[in-house]
Order: sequence, then C-alpha cells, then structure tokens
Amino acid sequence: MSDDVDVPESHPRYASLVTRHRIEAGVEKGITSRQGLIAQGRGEAYDYLLGETTIDSADAAERAAAAHLLGADDPVVSVNGNAAALVPGELVDLAAATGAALEVNLFNRTEARIERIAAHLRDHGAAAVKGLTADGRIPGLDHERAKVDADGIGDADVVLVPLEDGDRAEALGEMGKTELVVDLNPMSRSAEVAAVPIVDNVVRALPNITAHARELREPDTDLDTVVAEFDPDDARAAAEQQIRRAELDD
Ligand code: ATP
Repeated sequence: MSDDVDVPESHPRYASLVTRHRIEAGVEKGITSRQGLIAQGRGEAYDYLLGETTIDSADAAERAAAAHLLGADDPVVSVNGNAAALVPGELVDLAAATGAALEVNLFNRTEARIERIAAHLRDHGAAAVKGLTADGRIPGLDHERAKVDADGIGDADVVLVPLEDGDRAEALGEMGKTELVVDLNPMSRSAEVAAVPIVDNVVRALPNITAHARELREPDTDLDTVVAEFDPDDARAAAEQQIRRAELDD
C-alpha cells in the first residue's frame, strides 16, 4: 500500500495525513470497511488531544502487553480492517517477536474481505493467518460477529485486540480471556474491560510493544512482575487527564 501523499514530510500534520491516506487506500483495496473511516476519525480526534505522542502511561501499558503476550500459552493478535491497512508489517513483526498467532476478526465479516486481509498480511511476511475456519463462537454475540477460529481466538488465553468494538471486547472478557486493547479513547467500553488498555495510536503502539517484547525476551526477566506492576485504571485515568489538559496554542 502506498504512502504517497501530496504533502511534504515537514508538514506538521504529515503523520496524521499518511495514516488517513493508508485507511483510504485500505477502503479502496477492499481491506477496510467504510465504517473504518469513521472509527479513524474518532481516533484522530483523541490522538490530537493526546498530542499525537505515546504518553508515559501508554508506554507502560505497551510493556505490560508485551509481558502478557510472552507469558501466554496461546496468545493471539486479532486483526481488523483498520489495523491491516495501518500496520500490516508491524502486526507480522509483533507476532514473530512474541510467538502469537495472527487472526483476522472483522466486525462486518465477509469471507472475501477476510481473504483479502489474509493475503495482505502474507504479502507483508505472515507465514500463517487464522480467521477463515470460523469453527468457534464467542457466546453472547449474534451469529456473524461471534465467529472465530476454535484453535485461534477460541482457545487463546491472551488476545491483543487493536480497535475492537465494545460489545465484542466485553464478550471476550466474559470468556475469561486476558484482553490487551489498543484504543485512543480511554473511556470506550473496550478500554474499560481490558486487562491492559493501551491508549495510543496503533501506528505507534504496535512497534513499541514489539520493541518491549524483544527486550523482555532476555533470560531472567520476571514477566509476572511486569504484569503485576501495571494498573489498568491508573493508565486510563492518566490518559483521560492528558486529554482534558490539552491546551490551545497561544
Ligand atoms: P465503544 O468501545 O465505546 O463501544 P465503539 O465500539 O463504538 O466504542 P468505534 O466507533 O468502533 O467504537 O471506534 C473505534 C475506536 O477505535 C474509537 O474509540 C477510536 O478512538 C479508536 N481508534 C480509531 N483509530 C485508531 C487508531 N489508529 N489507533 C488507536 N485507536 C483508534
């Protein structure tokens, strides 16, 4: 997917415009849904108020997420249409660094779109992509949205869900899964139910989780301590305060 945008890199909104362009290109390629454009707009507004930076509490959450993934028996990274358009290579790198499986998991599920996303991830180096077998179900959701792979999200103990919708995040939590959620809105239901709410843009969060995972893979690292030291309520509160403190330039 091309990052060609008609603005110089020195433009103050360059990163945001590139991100927007990737989502648009994702829609054109049939990877991202049109609702994904709306979700992107919501995310941009929060990111603007956060200062378009990884705040300290988000960095701590990214480290805790890396520790959870490394310590899991069956970790899965869930991939939706926005994440596939924005960070395909970074998803593949994270899966490789943590031993997690990649599973395509769509709100507006169609076989064709899952196939296209799986192919897109394979183009970016993914060896295996789950999501097409769809022989498992998440209890409490309607038929299409409940579908998962039994040996993927169905069996997972830890699931990283970038940009999950609130209903499904709640339902996964009720299944007893440890959820790691990337969502720029610290007040969303997805962030509220997460063991690790990562209030950061997925384009910054994913590579930073991978960097933490590479560092935490060193022998003798006490993953349990990293996990225990993280407090999800504190992380959401810190992000909310940061958003409320945002000031106008003079
Ligand atoms: P709730 O969880 O409160 O039910 P929702 O499911 O209705 O919310 P959506 O409208 O689907 O939420 O929006 C998706 C969420 O993803 C928003 O909270 C938005 O902030 C977040 N989001 C969008 N783009 C990004 C991004 N690039 N990085 C991180 N988060 C993002």
